[in-house]
Amino acid sequence: MIDRERMATGLAVERRRYAEQNPESQRAAKEATHLFGGVPMTWMAKTAGGFPLFLDRASGARVTTIDGHELVDFCLGDTGAMAGHSPPATVAAVQARYADAGGATAMMPTEDAAVVAAELTRRFGVSAWSFALTATDANRWALRLCRALTGRPKVLVNAWCYHGTVDESLIVTSPSGPVPRPGNVGAPCDVTESSRVTEFNDLAALEAALAHGDVAVVLMEPALTNMGIVLPEPGYLEGVRRITREAGTLLIIDETHTLSAGPGGCTKAWGLDPDIVTLGKAIAGGIPIGAYGLHADLAERLLSREDLDLVDTGGVGGTLAGNALSLAAARATLEQVLTEGAFSGMIALCTRYHEGVERIIADRSLPWSVRQLGARSEYRFADPAPRNGTESEASTDVDLEDYLHLYLLNRGILLTPFHNMALMCPATTEADVDLHLQVLDEAVASLA
Ligand code: PMP
Repeated sequence: MIDRERMATGLAVERRRYAEQNPESQRAAKEATHLFGGVPMTWMAKTAGGFPLFLDRASGARVTTIDGHELVDFCLGDTGAMAGHSPPATVAAVQARYADAGGATAMMPTEDAAVVAAELTRRFGVSAWSFALTATDANRWALRLCRALTGRPKVLVNAWCYHGTVDESLIVTSPSGPVPRPGNVGAPCDVTESSRVTEFNDLAALEAALAHGDVAVVLMEPALTNMGIVLPEPGYLEGVRRITREAGTLLIIDETHTLSAGPGGCTKAWGLDPDIVTLGKAIAGGIPIGAYGLHADLAERLLSREDLDLVDTGGVGGTLAGNALSLAAARATLEQVLTEGAFSGMIALCTRYHEGVERIIADRSLPWSVRQLGARSEYRFADPAPRNGTESEASTDVDLEDYLHLYLLNRGILLTPFHNMALMCPATTEADVDLHLQVLDEAVASLA
């Protein structure tokens, strides 16, 4: 059990140690006076230590800070670096495209794009692909296409989902009904006008929500990964597919994070049959990219519609989308880095991690749970494991999370800042996993 007083004292000790160990990062943070919030993107201010660590270099499963500390990286850019940092095959493809051949963005297709699309088709089943620069944009554009296809106005998401900064997805449940997600910045309209929301793993609620007949599309992760890992109960995903079909509602499966389940994400691993798959972050080895793949019949229906401006300013697309550099990087990453063999190794390592955390939880009698989704694992301060996003959100413990993150960070281990997520990349080793387990056990022991 956790002793809160010890934790408060321990957190102060860890913060001092963090400041002492990282003077260069602290200096750089102080000097960044012309950055909004002192950081290149405001979310980077979320740090347990009071200032962010500044990156010097990264390779494989390691990042090195400007203070010269090498950290074992289980955050991996919150999935953007799932292929490992700068994998050599992707580096070579970027060099070949950007330096040797030249041209990152020229408003012309490259042959890499069709190769990437064919590979994504082989992996995910859906067969008409288009590219974006982020998963957020892939989701945004896919939602527009779904509204155009169905003529319906609304989107349905799961409570406490995250699909990027997609306006329609920032909605949660509450005892008084659907409400905007707390803190939603400058929403274009009340999100209850554009969206419906249900709990993950609740088929009855989904059926009732779709009965209104106004939902164009359900946008969901096949397992929640942004509020802990919440796995689908047996029959849930099959039920979602049946109910959406019956209601004439399309289904987007967002595989941005759940790609951790295998080369074709949960879609392939679990035999899902979505209308659209969205992807991003990892598939170009850290070079910005997003992608959405449509079932062929949907693509044909869209292309035959003369009222939809799909080639200019109709609301779908971006100048840098589909650029030559992103696609060269994606081709190399998919063909040579995030391969079937790589996933086997990453998943086996993650099982070692997962079983180790399970042992710590049991040995120390912690009221926690841990979930694995392929190469990704996460512990959560709730037992039994939460069944949906709202239950999982209720188990958030910011102080405990800060303490653990800082304790690990001060001893060379980086977890994802917003939760206790750990991801394995092809370069992660058993020694990395075992180091995390050893330090986590010490951290927990320090609080008993
Ligand atoms: N979909 C999912 C499932 C995500 O977790 C995220 C980001 N964490 C996104 C989409 C958006 O990705 P990006 O911020 O790269 O646009």
